[in-house]
Amino acid sequence: MSVPSSAVGTAQIGVTGLAVMGRNLARNFARHGYTVAVHNRTYARTQSLVADHASDGTFVPSESMADFVASLARPRKVVVMVQAGAPTDAVIDELVPLLEPGDIVVDAGNAHFPDTIRREAALRDKGLHFVGTGVSGGEEGALNGPSIMPGGTTESYESLGPILEAISAKVDGVPCCTHVGPDGAGHFVKMVHNGIEYADMQLIAEAYDLLRSGLGASAPEIGEVFAAWNTGDLESFLIEVTAEVLAHTDAATGRPFVDVVADAAEQKGTGRWTVQNGLELGVPITGIAEATFARALSGSAPQRAAARGVLPADTLAWNIPDPGAFMEDVRLALYASKVVAYSQGFDQIAAASAQYGWDIDRGAMARIWRGGCIIRAKFLDRITQAYERDPNLPLLLADPYFTAAVANGVAAWRRVVSAAAAHGVPTPAFSSSLAYYDGVRAERLPANLIQAQRDFFGAHTYRRTDRDGTFHTDWSGDRAEQTW
Ligand code: NAP
Repeated sequence: MSVPSSAVGTAQIGVTGLAVMGRNLARNFARHGYTVAVHNRTYARTQSLVADHASDGTFVPSESMADFVASLARPRKVVVMVQAGAPTDAVIDELVPLLEPGDIVVDAGNAHFPDTIRREAALRDKGLHFVGTGVSGGEEGALNGPSIMPGGTTESYESLGPILEAISAKVDGVPCCTHVGPDGAGHFVKMVHNGIEYADMQLIAEAYDLLRSGLGASAPEIGEVFAAWNTGDLESFLIEVTAEVLAHTDAATGRPFVDVVADAAEQKGTGRWTVQNGLELGVPITGIAEATFARALSGSAPQRAAARGVLPADTLAWNIPDPGAFMEDVRLALYASKVVAYSQGFDQIAAASAQYGWDIDRGAMARIWRGGCIIRAKFLDRITQAYERDPNLPLLLADPYFTAAVANGVAAWRRVVSAAAAHGVPTPAFSSSLAYYDGVRAERLPANLIQAQRDFFGAHTYRRTDRDGTFHTDWSGDRAEQTW
C-alpha cells in the first residue's frame, strides 16, 4: 500500500531515481518489509511505481525532493540511482541542502571511483556520510537480490549495512554484501568486477569460436558443450547464459540466434576504466585489457573492411581426429585462462587497496560475488578459501589449489593456443593469459636486455644481479662501468 507524503519521517530508506534499476531496488526494499520513500525527477515514474507495485509493500511517494527528504526517518538513508556522471552530481547538489549531519547518501549507480572519492570528501566536510556502492546483477538482480559492494565509513555501514544485506543475494545463507572499505573502495571493486566480466565473456567467446572453427560445430551443438561444462569446475552464470543463447533459434529466420547477431561488441565505461587504472597502477591485467581491445577491434568497421579478404592467412587446415579430446583441451584452456584473469583482477584490487589505504579483504570480495552478480560462479568459493589460507597471498595462481588446477591444464592450454595460431583463430585472451602465466613463472625475463638498451641510449642506469647499487656504462666512451 502507499501512504501520502504528509506521513513524514517514517520511511526507513529512500530511493531517488526510479528508472529500471531504482524502481527494482525500491521494490526489493519494500518486499523485505522496509517502508520506502520514493522520488524521481519526473513524477510520473514515481506514480507508476506506486500504482503498479503497491502489493510489494509500503511506499511513500513524493513529488518534490523536499517532501521526499522529509518523509525519511533520521538518520536519513537516501539511495541515489540515477545516470552516472553529471546527473548524479545534480541530484546530490539538490539533496545535500535538505539533509542534516549524520544522514547517509548512497550512490548506487555506476560511478567512476575517483568521482566517489571526490563526492565522499565533499559530503564529509558537511558532516554527511557518502556511500559509493557497487550494485551488480542488472535489473533482475536489483529486484531479487544483487551483489552489493558498499564503500564509505564503517559508521555508516553499521546502520546501512543490515538493510543492504537484507536485500542482497544470499549463498548458503550468507549475504552477498559486505563493507568494502572507505570512500571509493566499493565503486572500485565494482569496476574490477566488470573488468573481470569482460575477460570472462571474451574467454567464453574464444572457446566458442575454437569449437565452431575446429569442429565445424553448429551453435546449438556448442550450446550442449557449454551446458555440460556448466556441471563442472566452470559452473557459472555466464556459462549457463552462453548455453542458453547458443541453443536459441531466431524466430524470424529459423537460424541459430547467434548466427544472425552482428559481430560488433560495445565497450562502455567500466572495462575501459579498469584497463586505464591497471596502467596507472602498473598491474598487468592482460586478460581484461585484451578483452576490452577485442571488443574495440570487433567494432573497428573500416579497419575490418580494409583487411577482410585482403590480408593473407596462410593457415593450416583443421584436422581433429578426436573431437572429444579437443573439446577437453579447450575446456582446460578456458579454465586456466579464467584463473589468470581473476588472479590479475585480485592483484589490481590489492594494488589499489595499498595505494588508497582501503584495506580490502579480497576473500570477502570473492564471497560477495558468489551470488547476484554477473560473474557469479562456483569457483569463487575457492578464491575465498585461498585468501582465508593466506590473506596476504601475493598471487592467486600461487595458492596450492589454483597451482594444481592450472597445472592440470597447462599442456592442453599450450596445444589450444598453438592450434589457434596455426589455424588463424584469434584468441587474444587465451594467448595473453598463457603469456602472462609463462612470464610470471619465468626464472628470468628479457627485461635485462631492456634495461641495458635504456642505459645505452638514455643513461637510465641499471642494477646488477651480483651486487647492490645502481650502475651506468659509459657506452659512448671507454665502456667502463660507473657506480651511480
Ligand atoms: P538510467 O537510464 O541510467 O538513468 C535514468 C534515471 O536517471 C531516471 O530516473 C532519470 O530521471 C534520472 N536522471 C537523469 N538525469 C537526471 C538529472 N539531471 N536529475 C535528476 N534525475 C536524473 O537508469 P538505470 O538504467 O535504472 O540505471 C541507474 C544507475 O544504475 C546508473 O548509474 C547505471 O549506470 C546503473 N546501472 C547499473 C546496472 C547494474 O547492473 N548494476 C545496470 C544498469 C544500470 P527521469 O525519469 O526524470 O528522466
